[in-house]
Amino acid sequence: MRATTQQIPFVDLKRQYRQHRSEWLGALTRVAESGRYIGGEEVAAFEKEFAHYCGTAFAVGTGSGSDALRLALLALKIGPGDEVVTVSHTFVATVDAIVHVGATPVFVDIDPVTYTLDPKQLKAALGPRVKAVLPVHLYGLSADMAPILETCEAAAVPVLEDAAQAHGATYQGRACGSMGKAACFSFYPSKNLGAFGDAGIVATSDGELADQLRLLRQYGEAEKYNHKIVGFNSRLDALQAAVLRTKLPHLDAWNERRREIAALYDATLGEIPGIGTPTTPEGRRHIYHIYGIRAQRRYALQQFLTNRGVEVGIHYPTPVHRQPSYREIRTRSLDLSATVAVAKQELSLPMFPELTRPEVETVCRLISDWAQPR
Ligand SMILES: *Cc1c(COP(=O)(O)O)cnc(C)c1O
Repeated sequence: MRATTQQIPFVDLKRQYRQHRSEWLGALTRVAESGRYIGGEEVAAFEKEFAHYCGTAFAVGTGSGSDALRLALLALKIGPGDEVVTVSHTFVATVDAIVHVGATPVFVDIDPVTYTLDPKQLKAALGPRVKAVLPVHLYGLSADMAPILETCEAAAVPVLEDAAQAHGATYQGRACGSMGKAACFSFYPSKNLGAFGDAGIVATSDGELADQLRLLRQYGEAEKYNHKIVGFNSRLDALQAAVLRTKLPHLDAWNERRREIAALYDATLGEIPGIGTPTTPEGRRHIYHIYGIRAQRRYALQQFLTNRGVEVGIHYPTPVHRQPSYREIRTRSLDLSATVAVAKQELSLPMFPELTRPEVETVCRLISDWAQPR
């Protein structure tokens, strides 16, 4: 077995900063010198540019992806007594948002191949109290939206997309974020499009919903000191908007680079017995926010790689319905066996656009050594 002293990070945001330093700093300076730190031109321009990127009529900036979800649910008038169907195999914020508005999460299983909401279970989960369906485009792969949209349309239930991991992913040529009634994105720094702090956005083509979101994020204020509804303070900062504006034109190239890295991983790891590589169904463009493999002895492999300088992650070790925070929360669950199985085996490998080919090759070689000790 070969050891390596090389450190391969799971994600390294400084590499991108070094490459684009003058662009990013230019954007920050522009805002600093403008004297306009909340709202203003940068925010309005980014909202327009991001809506255009998604193919929606509007996008409304928020303080985070979590707030994007919470405000979108409120704008859809979802509250106590209502149910929202989603998955348990996701980042906890998806489900927390449902709890925060007073509604009850209903968990359906994931498809064991794509790890996204299983449309076959959806019909069984619907009922008179279900007021929205919240699929997650997990790891950068779109959920199977055609049957989800069809089922929801027949039941007259709106679809809210959690696109926090899917900036630039597509499904049958349609952008993630453009298929539901609304879609929520996060610009947490390590997301495929990341700010210099917390930021989020809701994309929608529904003008009334966009108006409601603008009220909710700013104290319910229709005009200065005229408060139409009880609202929040959750806005996209001008500094973040300016940085995001300079980053957005690079997003497609960064996603393409992630796809190249994924293809490198696929080619080598796909040959290793006991290692499951991600599967992308036809018609979906995966943008690999996470490159997740499956391994039987996941923690042993994690330890092996960590000891050799490769930083890996697990997304996610415990499904939401089994989190301590959900012990006392009222939820409804269908059969979640795929969710539980995937949570036991998933391991996320280093993935970011600036990861080098030799680094990817080192990771592959180590996994191969682990699987077939010589
Ligand atoms: C990151 C993320 C969120 C939350 O976004 P924040 O900006 O961190 O609040 C929600 N859902 C999913 C699937 C995420 O990955």
